[in-house]
Amino acid sequence: MASGDASRTWFSEMIDTLRQEWNSEMSWEQVITLRDRLDAMLQEIRTSRSIRPPTMWCPVCKKQTQQAPPRVSVRATILALGRFGIVAAAEVKSLETRWAKHRKENSLDRNGKLNEAVSTAAANHGPDRQSHDPAL
Ligand SMILES: [Zn+2]
Repeated sequence: MASGDASRTWFSEMIDTLRQEWNSEMSWEQVITLRDRLDAMLQEIRTSRSIRPPTMWCPVCKKQTQQAPPRVSVRATILALGRFGIVAAAEVKSLETRWAKHRKENSLDRNGKLNEAVSTAAANHGPDRQSHDPAL
């Protein structure tokens, strides 16, 4: 395993897909569908290459725990457009602002799904959650 893969979110085949599928006329619904696809690719790559998430010491659980595996959020998808030179910085900034507004207006979570309002503590300590950091 190449170093850094444990916490890696963007693999080259995902960047290729983002580059091919992205277009500036996409609706948020289409962007969310693209995110779903990229996130599924990430899980597939990590599973097929047996890449385990990094471990960390959790002061709440008082033990060494495995972090939740990385996920592709809608915002991460938008930021990747800039990071990998697919979209100009000014457009990335504009997309970020519009996404934050759309997300708030529609009560969506970071993945563009309807927010189920889980408590922060539960959100940070479940096995399928975004993060295992109790400080979040
Ligand atoms: Zn914990």
